[in-house]
Amino acid sequence: MLNFPPSFLERAKHFAGKEYEQFIQSLSEPAPVSIRMNPFKRHDLFSGDEEIPWSSDGKYLIERPSFTMDPLFHAGCYYVQDASSQFLEQPFLQAKKMFNAPIRVLDLCAAPGGKSTHLLSLLDPGDVLISNEVIPTRNSILKENITKWGCSNVIITQNDPAAFEQLKGFFDIVVVDAPCSGEGLFRKDPSAIKEWSVENVNRCSVRQKNILNSAVETLAPGGFLIYSTCTFEEEENDLQIDYLIQTFGMKKVSIENLNHDIVSTKNGLSFYPHRIRGEGFYISLLQKENGDFYRLKNEKPGSDKFNYRKFIDEYLQSPNDFLPVYKEGRLYAISAKHFQTFRILSEKFYLRLAGISMGEMKGNDFIPSEALALSIFLNPDIPHLNLSEQQIIDYLKGGTPEIPEAKKGWNVVRFQNHSLGWIKNLGNRMNNYYPKEWRIKNDKLR
Ligand code: SAM
Repeated sequence: MLNFPPSFLERAKHFAGKEYEQFIQSLSEPAPVSIRMNPFKRHDLFSGDEEIPWSSDGKYLIERPSFTMDPLFHAGCYYVQDASSQFLEQPFLQAKKMFNAPIRVLDLCAAPGGKSTHLLSLLDPGDVLISNEVIPTRNSILKENITKWGCSNVIITQNDPAAFEQLKGFFDIVVVDAPCSGEGLFRKDPSAIKEWSVENVNRCSVRQKNILNSAVETLAPGGFLIYSTCTFEEEENDLQIDYLIQTFGMKKVSIENLNHDIVSTKNGLSFYPHRIRGEGFYISLLQKENGDFYRLKNEKPGSDKFNYRKFIDEYLQSPNDFLPVYKEGRLYAISAKHFQTFRILSEKFYLRLAGISMGEMKGNDFIPSEALALSIFLNPDIPHLNLSEQQIIDYLKGGTPEIPEAKKGWNVVRFQNHSLGWIKNLGNRMNNYYPKEWRIKNDKLR
């Protein structure tokens, strides 16, 4: 039995009521293992596993495999994610269907990227996601996970939520998956128990209000706010929604409850680990009162002069959908549809990634980037090598497998038709370009 702080147990008696014993018991049981598949990188793995009822690409796994040793995991073919948090799909699709034009979506607290990769799976190509994480080290993990997902309609920013107040009424849907007291993660991450205190619950609630103030400001009139946490605390959940209703006149929108084991609370839905197969989670949907939509004037994208068109033509499929942007030695391909959003954000925000990072110029050579290999827009005619499982694991560890059929120059390395990275064949030897910081280390087995 885990050792819980007495004041947490007191609070649990209040929120779990008659189900207190079962609730506490469930926190000592193993957490179910679940994943969400990438709809843009289909494969047969997990095809026999049980579906998560509220997530179109979600699956429960019977046991936890070694994800680190699975090349398809590194190729971004799936994301390991708790089942409860995949419920995001329901309110998101409910909100999305209210728009009949491309939408701008902001994920304000995005690392490590569970919700952002899920949102990318649900967006249409004309929609754009701004995925923001203020903490630099966490932003790097977000960038890695989004890069592996392979989509181009995303911009990663690294700003305090208050920075978004400059973009008044800019976003159609804002997702706030707030930093919280983390009670729902107690059994997965026992360090969350050590960090728990009543003071921390209060601190979290103040921080959440500040984040929500910025979220409302940057939301378009008529736009939707999705608020979620992984805690059971009323002051971090329903009471935050009361605050939004009272302070900003926001309207609560009821989310269809697909499973009677999910608890409908005053303002949202709560997931308890003794009732459903997933971790603790809370989610609510709100709409901002209507008014005139704030829309930016239509600029003509791509009026600037760029010299790097030819790399886009060579390396991307449908190259005409993209515009080249060259910044600090690196070439990016920005979707023409999202160029205006990119321009506005790039003037005011610290961008970590926009569109597809194509590569960098070293002297006269173009060095293709890892993100390009992982992009779902990579030109299929680029020379590629299909490796065996043994060879690809060797490659992911930094080795250079013997591949006599490798063409001279750049080859993209694949496993079961999913690209993982580059090697360069120099004739007399091969160089492995898989990023050093992503390589499988022998002590990184999980
Ligand atoms: N949405 C993520 C996912 O699904 O993978 C999980 C987000 S986690 C619950 C909350 C995030 O908020 C953390 O990455 C944390 O670094 C970030 N955060 C912490 N303090 C913050 C603040 N004051 N403003 C905005 N974000 C903050």
